[in-house]
This record gives sequence, structure tokens and C-alpha cells, in this order.
Amino acid sequence: MKDINTARTDFPILAREVNGKPLVYLDNAATMQKPQAVIDAVSRVYTDYNSNIHRGTHFLSNVCTGEFENAREKIQKFINARNSYEIIFTRGTTEAINLVANTFGDNFLSEDDEVIVSELEHHSNIVPWQLLRERKGIKLKVIPLNEDGELVLDEYYGMLNEKTRLVAVAHVSNALGTVNPVKEIIEAAHKMNAKVLIDGAQAVHHFPVDMRELDADFYVFSGHKLYGPTGIGVLYGKEELLNKMPPWHGGGEMIKNVTFEKTTYNELPFRFEAGTPDYAGAIGLGAAVDYLSSYSWEDIVGYEKELLDYATEKLSAIDGLKIYGTAEKKSGVVSFLVGKIHPYDMGVMLDKLGIAVRTGHHCAQPVMDRYGIPGTVRASFAIYNTKEEVDKLVDGIEKVKKIFG
Ligand code: PLP
Repeated sequence: MKDINTARTDFPILAREVNGKPLVYLDNAATMQKPQAVIDAVSRVYTDYNSNIHRGTHFLSNVCTGEFENAREKIQKFINARNSYEIIFTRGTTEAINLVANTFGDNFLSEDDEVIVSELEHHSNIVPWQLLRERKGIKLKVIPLNEDGELVLDEYYGMLNEKTRLVAVAHVSNALGTVNPVKEIIEAAHKMNAKVLIDGAQAVHHFPVDMRELDADFYVFSGHKLYGPTGIGVLYGKEELLNKMPPWHGGGEMIKNVTFEKTTYNELPFRFEAGTPDYAGAIGLGAAVDYLSSYSWEDIVGYEKELLDYATEKLSAIDGLKIYGTAEKKSGVVSFLVGKIHPYDMGVMLDKLGIAVRTGHHCAQPVMDRYGIPGTVRASFAIYNTKEEVDKLVDGIEKVKKIFG
């Protein structure tokens, strides 16, 4: 196993300067930087063996297909899914949720059936269900948050009934960092025969997730938040469910046979992968999974916890700074406001110091509404961040405070 304290040297972009200052990249919840191993893997596709996958009879196509399917197997092992064909490649979390809403949702849900989401969801896990509501007349219920940014589970248990068909919640909140008790959420839903989709976009890179242990029906995530390339993501679905779901997009690869009278569909996973997939992205994602797996989870979780605890302590000590999201279980994110300083102004001033944070509603407007604020400043962490960078953030905030009086 590699030493987690050396991870930083694997990420070439971290050596650059921004506005004449060494880059302090604290916008990891938006997207992660890429290690050289991932950059090389994608580059190798185009320099060594680029060719469209499947159906090819020639050498390059066979190599490329092998690498693509190999990546699927790496991801299967990474999340401990039972079968590699339960891993469907999508463009990302958003597309994966839309796929489930349009196939499972359109075919198995009807008027007055209920879908439960939560108040801390990313818009990607709200809007597809609202679109489904417009198409099918389903009801959408929302698990509320308490002041700490935790789901009020008693309210959730009270919402479940025989009309509940699907529960769709985030594993980790991108706006607050709350880690939700998804195992309990899944167990309670299953007792009512409801299915569960977990949005793991902010989870899979922070701690191990295990499909067999969690028993989620669907689990989705994005490659670019997992140290991998953009444009690639994953829908995990249980075999028996995926097999019952009709295809979503039509085109190449998802068919078995096409005539003008009738088209029959391919088996899993190809049935849901219409058109040429982002094979370079998938292969890069396989390399990202290999990269992350070169560290022990114990080290990753321990290092990131130490960093988050340090950041929380240092930021809390700043006069006038208020942290939003104080859940007992958190991962990767500190969201805050400083006095009356607008988050946008804070973000722009910190950028002048080379510090990249994200400001605004973080695509989670209902969370901001819950606290009656327009947005926050969000610092989010990865294995390559350091306590020195947290100190620079704290110094930067103090400087901005002085400028704004
Ligand atoms: N869900 C959560 C919790 C997220 O944090 C994000 C991205 O920030 C998404 C969904 C959407 O991911 P993508 O834009 O990669 O589809």
C-alpha cells in the first residue's frame, strides 16, 4: 500500500500557480484533480490502441474492448457488486438518475405512487423526479433536515407506506457534508417493498461502499469526482431490476436485432449503453479506481477525517464565521458564511490568493432555503490536501475580513 502522505506528488496540476500564488485547490466536491496515472491511461488509449469497441474484428478494436470491459470489472470489484453486467456506464450521476427515472419510473410507477427524496438532495436527484411527476402524476415527498443538516428519520419512517415505490437519497450531501444513514434508510424502504436509489456522487471516493452489504437497488456516481475523467459515470443496478427495465436511449449496441417491424434488445449491460460509449473515459475511470485502491481505506478515511476535523476547528475559531452543516457524521465538506460578506465576494477574493473554493447554492437550493441563506462558501477536501492549505484558507479569510471591515 502506498503512503497517503505522498499522494500530493501524484497530481501534476497541484504544482501550478494561480494569480502568482501556489494553487490551493479546495473545490473537490465539484470535481477532483486527476493523478498522473489517470492522465496516462486516457492518453494511452489515444496513442496506443484507440478504436471503436465491440463488433470489431481487428486487433485495436479487440484491445480497446478488452480494456473497456476490464474497467467495468474494476468498478464491479470497487463497489463489490455481484456481477460486472450490473455496472452500466453513463455520462455521470445526473444521467444515471435520469435513466432510472425514465425506465423504472415510467414503467413501474403510476398516478399517486410515491417517491421520497430529501431536503438535502442535489438538483440532479430532485428534478428527474419532478419531471416524472409531470409525466405520471406521482407524488413526491421530502424528508426534512434538522438544524445540524441531518435527515429527520422519524419523519421518513412516518412517510413510508404501501404507496411508496422508490426512495432516492444522497449518501453524502455535497452542500453540507452530512453522511446519511443509508443502510437504515434502505432497510426501512425494503420493509415496505419500496426500491432505493442512492446518489453516491460524494461518497465513493471518501469511504468504501459495498453493494452486497448496503443492498441498495440502484447506486450512482460520477467518474470526475472519483479522481477520474469527466463525461463518464456509473449506474449500478440489481440484475433482476435492470432486466425488467426497458431501454432508455435507442441506437447502436443496445439492440440484438433490428427490422422495420420489430427491434429486440441486447442483454445487460449493453441494453442501457446506446451509441459509442466514452470508452476512453471508462478506461480512465478504471485507472482512477486502481489509483485509489493503491491506498488503504483506513488511511484514506483517517487522513480525510483528520483534515476535516482540523479545518472545522480552525474555521470555527474565526470570529463571525458560521458553519452550515454540523452533523455528527460528515465527510469532505465545510460550508460556511463570514459575517455579512457575500459568498461570491469571499470566493473572488480568495481566488486572488490562489485559493479555489466554491460559492453559491451548490445545486442544492432547498438546503439554502432551509437555512434562509442565498448560498455558502464551500471548502471541500481530497487526499492531496494538507493542513498547511487549511491554514492558508484561514489566513485568506482573515485578510478578506479586514478588507471588508
Ligand atoms: N449528486 C451529488 C450529491 C453531487 O454532488 C453532484 C455533483 O456535484 C451530482 C449529483 C451531479 O453530478 P454530475 O454533474 O457529475 O452528474
